[in-house]
Amino acid sequence: MSSHDQHIIMLPFLAHGHLIPFLALARQLHQTTGYTITIVSTPLNIQYLQSTISSDSPDIHLAELPFCSTDHGLPPNAENTENLSFHNVPIFCHASVTLEAPFRHLVRDIMDKEGGGRPPLCIISDIFFGWAVNVAKSVGSVSITFTTCGAYGTAAYISFWLHLPHLHRDCEEVFKLPWFPDSHRFHRSQLSPLAKVTDGTDLCSTFVRSQISLSLGSHGWLCNTVEEIEPLGMEILRKYLKLSVWAIGPLLPPAALKKQYSSSSFGSNIFKQRAGKKPGISPEKCIEWLNLHGPSSVLYISFGSQNSVNASQMMELALGLEDSGKPFIWVLRPPTSFNIKGKFRDEWLPKGFEKRMTESKQGLLVHNWAPQLEILSHESIGAFLSHCGWNSTLESLSQGVPIIGLPMGAEQMYNSKMLVEEMGVCEELARGVQSDVVGKEVIMRVIELVMDKKKGKGKEMQKKAAIIGEQIRAAAKDRGGDGEGSSLLAALNDFVRVSSAV
Ligand code: UDP
Repeated sequence: MSSHDQHIIMLPFLAHGHLIPFLALARQLHQTTGYTITIVSTPLNIQYLQSTISSDSPDIHLAELPFCSTDHGLPPNAENTENLSFHNVPIFCHASVTLEAPFRHLVRDIMDKEGGGRPPLCIISDIFFGWAVNVAKSVGSVSITFTTCGAYGTAAYISFWLHLPHLHRDCEEVFKLPWFPDSHRFHRSQLSPLAKVTDGTDLCSTFVRSQISLSLGSHGWLCNTVEEIEPLGMEILRKYLKLSVWAIGPLLPPAALKKQYSSSSFGSNIFKQRAGKKPGISPEKCIEWLNLHGPSSVLYISFGSQNSVNASQMMELALGLEDSGKPFIWVLRPPTSFNIKGKFRDEWLPKGFEKRMTESKQGLLVHNWAPQLEILSHESIGAFLSHCGWNSTLESLSQGVPIIGLPMGAEQMYNSKMLVEEMGVCEELARGVQSDVVGKEVIMRVIELVMDKKKGKGKEMQKKAAIIGEQIRAAAKDRGGDGEGSSLLAALNDFVRVSSAV
């Protein structure tokens, strides 16, 4: 049987931060094996993927599942968590479960048309689409779960949702999380806003808990990480899931795997990966601005694709940045409790701030969306003030850039904990968007500490981040090529072994 006869079907959850790593995995799987890869999603997400891959990955197939958001009481065209208000997220999650029946039909169709009834080699489904495990098994295919997060973050997230340790009567501010060594105590402030208050019975919690439980029935798990940088997380996942868990990361665009920006990476697929997003500035403009500043001197500030800080925190951050005198690029969105996709108002920043920063060239304020990878891979970047989303974390570390943590939700608090305690590459500024506002003095102190590369903690963090950056790039290197990780090849060999054993 030729490699082209093998088919892998992939099913990402309906969120930007899941579609992108799934697409990156699809590309790598196809490049490495030549297998036919089909990504399945709802119509608008397929459109987004189509615009992203049409020119540089024509070999990836896309297939649509019917989905009408208004049938579920959601606004029209709500097919992605990014377009949802907070209270609609649980409804959307539950609506996504109804995709099971159309997905089952689609898989059967693919089998009938192409393989004379032969099942796909495997179905790779998102941790939030645990129902796909049953579909895969029912057609005789191997079921693989892909977590787009890191290993430590995934382990802590799963352990929390399966055990809800904060509900135990003896649970104090600092508590033990099952599966984690005794030395790894967790603090209540490290729980996401939902996790802090849930008793496990609300819509969102029942969705997360049931999808995780179903996903534990897969034949194996893939994790977007590198074995060497997350040994503890990988050890915990393997020990407690009792499954094969493969570290197949880093799933990053090829240009992110080069050390520092080079003009040849322009026009490559960094930008195409984010088609559908309107950058507030061109990469060329950013590079031009960054070229004005010395090595490791600029702080980059961004909170991912769907977060912002509250209004008071935004004001303090601006004051702290200005008084620190450090150059910065800041991706600005309206504060939380306003429409963060809406128009930005001057009143959210100190009077005359944007004008002063622009004229003095101390700050580059980018509205809504920045070419993050181009920025992070420029040698002038010295630190990243981040919400510790896993993609941002990997992107920063792949460039050896230390992090100032402001984790806000999901598994970001766990990522931040690991970055501080395990890797030593992060100083945490605050936790949670609604938490007490961190004043400008603290902000200035933390910026100074992390960006002082000559002595103390800043120097140490820089050194550690550089080592981790090398480990990430090394994992991604295939003799002579970019982006085809040896870890991916090893995982694939194992897939095939697992598939033939099923
Ligand atoms: N991103 C970007 N420009 C921005 C904000 C975000 O390119 O202005 C990209 C970033 O490079 C990363 C992704 O969006 O790949 C954010 O993913 P992450 O996991 O860090 O956070 P999430 O958006 O899922 O909270």
